[in-house]
Parts: sequence; C-alpha cells; structure tokens
Amino acid sequence: MEGSKHQDRQCWRCGAAVAAGLLCPGCEAPQPPPDGDLFSVLGLPRRLAVDGEELERRYHAASRALHPDRHQTAEARARQLSERASAALNRAYRTLRDPVARGRYWLELHGNPLHRENKEVPPALAADVFETQEKLEELRSSATPVLRDEVRRLHDALVARLAGLEADLSRLYAGANGDGMLQELKRRLSEIAYLRTLLGDVEEALGEVSGTHNRH
Ligand SMILES: [Zn+2]
Repeated sequence: MEGSKHQDRQCWRCGAAVAAGLLCPGCEAPQPPPDGDLFSVLGLPRRLAVDGEELERRYHAASRALHPDRHQTAEARARQLSERASAALNRAYRTLRDPVARGRYWLELHGNPLHRENKEVPPALAADVFETQEKLEELRSSATPVLRDEVRRLHDALVARLAGLEADLSRLYAGANGDGMLQELKRRLSEIAYLRTLLGDVEEALGEVSGTHNRH
C-alpha cells in the first residue's frame, strides 16, 4: 500500500523505473527524493526495529553514489538533484540511526508527536526529579564540597538511568506491535526527554558552582 504510489516513478533522464530510489538503477542519475517516509528514502522496511548494519550499508552506498563531486560534470538537473537527494539521505540517516530520534519520528508518522512544550513530570521520575531539584537549590545557596559530591553522584545516577532507558528502547522496538505500543513508546520517550533536560540542569548547576570556585 505504502510503496504503491512510487511504483510508477520513472527516471527523468532515461525513463527506467526507479520506484522510491534516489538513484536510477539504469543510468545512475540522481532522482527527486520520494514523498514517502524516511524509511523509504533508505529503501528500508517501515519498522521501528532497524537493522543497524543494513542501515549503514545502504547509507554509505547511496552517499557515495549521490556525492555531488560525482555529478559535477553532468547536466544542471543532475547536479541539483544530487544535492537534494543527498540532503534527504542525510536527514533519513541521522533520524533512523538514533533510536530516540527514530522513536520520536515514529510518533510523528502516526500523528501522535511528543510535544516539546509538555512540562509535566513523568510519574516514574517524580521522586528523582524532586530530590534532584532540591539538591540543586541547596547547592546554589551554599556550594560546599560535600554538596558538590552529592550532586555529582546524582548526576552519575541520572546518566546511568538515561542509558538504561535508551537501551530499553531497542528491546521495545524488537517486539513492537499493536496500538498500545504507541502509548508505551510515548511514555518512554517523554521520560528520556525529561531526564535529558534534568541532566542539563544538573550540569549547568555544577558548571556554575565550579565557575564560582575558579574565580577565587
Ligand atoms: Zn536513468
């Protein structure tokens, strides 16, 4: 169903069938990026679980073939399309190789995006968020070495927790199916987004404190 709209795409130069490809299999002319999703740009099945090696292989092959240097002496249309197709390829690669970015894109594809402006604390993180913010307040009002060490330990624990959540995504993707999965994905991605923000706050606070320290 998804692929059918590309089936009759033809190469603008030689007329060969190009489907969703970025390059003509006949004359190797770069093609306009397909309108479909980022998976189709790389010729990958539309699935949350992506084969990392396959992704790399396809990206590097297409990237070499589309490189503007290779089309420098071709007609203007080929030069221009090689740039457009390369840009589409790079965007697809950057989004799909990163499990978090891929998950967020998946939510967008399903009309259920994760909103940046959602500041509600995910319930599973509420206790840690509260504790962290309290410590940061204390640290800002009196940056004793003991407090600094405590905040550094909190920082390391948050880093480990974030790594754990990100690793769990791969497991979720491997078994991904059904409608309930979108809600589960959204919940986990919002926890990751929230933890990243919190970690940024902690790093900023530690930076401010050591900044003050350095000036003395
Ligand atoms: Zn062609």
